[in-house]
Amino acid sequence: MIPNLEYIRAENLTAALEILSNHKYKNRLLAGGTDLLIDLRKNAETEKIRLIDISRLYAIKQVNEDGTTVRIGAGISHSQIIKSEIIRNYFPALNAAVKTIGSVQTRNRGTLGGNICNASPCADSIPALLAYDAIVEIRSSQNTRLLPLAEFLIHPYQTDLCRDEMVTSFHLKKITGSFGSAFIKLGRRNAMSIARMNAAVVLQMDDRNKINEARIAAGSVMPTAARMASAEKLLTGETPSEKLFRTAGQQVAEEMIRVSGRRWSTEYKEPVIPVLVRRALMQAWAELKNCGDRFLV
Ligand SMILES: Cc1cc2nc3c(=O)[nH]c(=O)nc-3n(C[C@H](O)[C@H](O)[C@H](O)COP(=O)(O)OP(=O)(O)OC[C@H]3O[C@@H](n4cnc5c(N)ncnc54)[C@H](O)[C@@H]3O)c2cc1C
Repeated sequence: MIPNLEYIRAENLTAALEILSNHKYKNRLLAGGTDLLIDLRKNAETEKIRLIDISRLYAIKQVNEDGTTVRIGAGISHSQIIKSEIIRNYFPALNAAVKTIGSVQTRNRGTLGGNICNASPCADSIPALLAYDAIVEIRSSQNTRLLPLAEFLIHPYQTDLCRDEMVTSFHLKKITGSFGSAFIKLGRRNAMSIARMNAAVVLQMDDRNKINEARIAAGSVMPTAARMASAEKLLTGETPSEKLFRTAGQQVAEEMIRVSGRRWSTEYKEPVIPVLVRRALMQAWAELKNCGDRFLV
């Protein structure tokens, strides 16, 4: 059952932040509602909830770029991300990740901000944004602050957001030089399935064709989606090869067990996550070979 609600539609960002700063009610931001409405039904609360509809805030629905950075509004829908040429060019793994989210209807309503703020360990856009080192822009009526996404995600379904704050955008630095990236998701079936595990990778090369920087982020293998530092280190400075990528995948499995311990799902995840990581790295490498310096900034 949906609890006792008051609904209010914010006309603009300033108004939304003003309403959010009033703590008389328990406020919840409503973006696409694809997670929130399920949550409200599941956890019916007795306390009155004020839903602040932010779905029509133009200020958080833009994609802007300058010479070094792309800013993606938190209110942009997954379908809009898929259509964005800027995101397709500079952040193809994010494009690939949101394409796998739910159905067309879910992607039309669901937003990037909602996917991140819901903070599910299996959210599909999170590994991609982690691999692109996304910075979260957070605003209240009094203040603006910037936080790396990895610090924003505290626990499963819990973020660093205060009661009077809203996520307004994500800042992603354009990667210089030649790079390849990829996103892979394993679900119970091919369509309309949440991820059992997912992974996003970025490989950036130096002019000797060695890996200058490797970024690997995985979802559903740790309490929150996270970067895999030991596997990234193993790849740095090396020449890409399938054998190297297989070893990196093993490292991710070891890191998963080190952090999460052995759980009921480990029997399944331990042999599978190395395969996903190896395949994602192979895809990123293939993209690099095909596209070369296409993304030179
Ligand atoms: C049928 C179905 C299939 C799905 N499949 C997938 C899938 O394959 N992969 C996947 O990752 N997810 C999936 N989802 C989950 C969901 O669609 C996504 O997480 C979506 O991106 C949530 O965005 P939203 O705008 O609907 O968020 P909402 O439901 O509006 O909000 C979610 C939470 O974030 C908060 N919030 C929203 N925007 C902001 C903001 N700007 N600042 C601060 N807090 C904010 C809300 O208050 C709420 O707590 C699915 C959902 C459904 C119903």
